[in-house]
Amino acid sequence: MMMLHGKGVAPGAAVGHVFIYNKNYDIPAESFILSGQEQAHLNRYFSVKKQALEELEKIKVSMLKVDSAKAAIFDAQKEIVEDIIINEEIPARILNERWSGAWAVYQVYETVLNVLRNTPDPLISERAADFDDVRALLLKIWYGQKTEGLSNLPEPVIVAARELLPSDTAGLKRDKVLAIITEAGGITSHTAIIAKSFGIPAVLGIEGLLNSIKQGQLVAVNAEEGTVIVDPKDDVKKEFLEKSGVFNRERQETEGFLEKEGRTACGTKIEISLNISSSNDEELKMQSFTDSVGLLRTEFLYMEHNKLPPEDEQFYSYKKILECFNEKPVVLRTLDIGGDKQVPYLDFKREDNPFLGNRGIRFCFSNRDILKTQIRAALRASVYGNLWILLPMITSLDDIRNAKKIIKEAGNELKKEGIKFNDVKTGIMIEVPGIAHIADLAAQEVDFASIGSNDLCQYLCAADRMNETVESYYQCYHPAVFRLIKTAISAFNDAGKSISICGELGNDVKAVPVLIGLGLRKFSMGAASIAAVKKTISGLTIEKAQETALHVLGLPTAEEIEKYLELI
Ligand code: PEP
Ligand code: MG
Repeated sequence: MMMLHGKGVAPGAAVGHVFIYNKNYDIPAESFILSGQEQAHLNRYFSVKKQALEELEKIKVSMLKVDSAKAAIFDAQKEIVEDIIINEEIPARILNERWSGAWAVYQVYETVLNVLRNTPDPLISERAADFDDVRALLLKIWYGQKTEGLSNLPEPVIVAARELLPSDTAGLKRDKVLAIITEAGGITSHTAIIAKSFGIPAVLGIEGLLNSIKQGQLVAVNAEEGTVIVDPKDDVKKEFLEKSGVFNRERQETEGFLEKEGRTACGTKIEISLNISSSNDEELKMQSFTDSVGLLRTEFLYMEHNKLPPEDEQFYSYKKILECFNEKPVVLRTLDIGGDKQVPYLDFKREDNPFLGNRGIRFCFSNRDILKTQIRAALRASVYGNLWILLPMITSLDDIRNAKKIIKEAGNELKKEGIKFNDVKTGIMIEVPGIAHIADLAAQEVDFASIGSNDLCQYLCAADRMNETVESYYQCYHPAVFRLIKTAISAFNDAGKSISICGELGNDVKAVPVLIGLGLRKFSMGAASIAAVKKTISGLTIEKAQETALHVLGLPTAEEIEKYLELI
């Protein structure tokens, strides 16, 4: 029996046989070809490349159903397949030095990987995982090996790997994976996001994992404590199985809250809305369990293809969502790209600080036609439901006024063309501290607001939300976060205007009582969190929530706030 330690990133426990997943391709030997064979190897490389691009496109399309923002990873991987330098180097090695095709692929990627792995900048070194993933795909295709990742596991197992990338988990079935354990990865890694979205217990960042386990060995995982026990003794096995049973029962009990409405124990209605990022049926099926779409991230339309989505295509997509939600509001956020979300075919200038750069509404102001087309499509669709338009990355009243002008222009164009549309509410994301501080003034100019706590926290704490190195500085329980959120909620409540939260803090069951205590009555979140948040709300009274909020506002550090919220 041996105990290993890592970071528990998705709760739960499990006992089962380990399935060691590695990239499983044959590493080619250093080998050379005979004169006259060059063209055949070159042609083979081109054909493998083409198949890899098709495969990545397939994975991307299937991933779009789960998470459109993550689907962009596969566009980035397609770019790697097409990388100019790599595609000069591989043919040159085959033609000039008679390297065999497979060896040339392996070795040219290895050279790039060595450079990336040795870069101190974590943003660059993280890219190595994508290059590694692409090389594995190319070589698997080269050798005619399966490229299906974890989509065909025959029985429930504990998946162990160095790290899991989206291509490994596309098509993964929740009931075939008891837990995930990996060597690499932290709270913000791809693996963590995937585990959380599937609700699979996961322990990541376990040093020496793959040297400590054998294929098929029995392991016990406790993701609450971040521990993995190899070859557990019977009593340990029993203890972990009990834990897993308790976890599964609790999960079932929580799931029972899905169909209930959001209401506190003292009877106050709390609106529970849905964050979606596509018009996919899978996402829309939560319609009956929610009061509205609180955030429609529209980036999917722009990331799905290699060109800007035409007005008509957008119109049909929005219409489908509006019709599905009928009289329930659908809050459509206008295009929010830049920062972490790049669209390969749009020409972004390189920026030193993209999160402080041309993102969200700023990008749309510098590309007015893109925004105008989107607003026209949205307004045309407005007659099919209850549309609200939400503007991202708003910093000042100038931003609000400029955006409203464009909305008006789009409306005037439609009127001239004799196309009908409804009056729509216009609102803003509160995710930049500047606008949060003047939320009272903003509330005079808009109909509603939605708190984007993900960005608000990164800007308040000056910590890039994507950068693992500064993860400990990104403190969503920082006292300033709650104070500023209070300012925004009070301002909109005082003005009698709707305010909600659509960032991750709103689905954190520890933070929910504080937010309700601060006066928030509307939450929007991903489908996976709805049941748990409804359950938390059902055990609260407004009076208790207000006491909690008051106490939190008096605490000096994020750590003390989190500890206090864990105990109540
Ligand atoms: C946010 O910033 O909290 C938010 C909801 O928007 P996104 O995560 O898409 O930036
Ligand atoms: Mg945001």
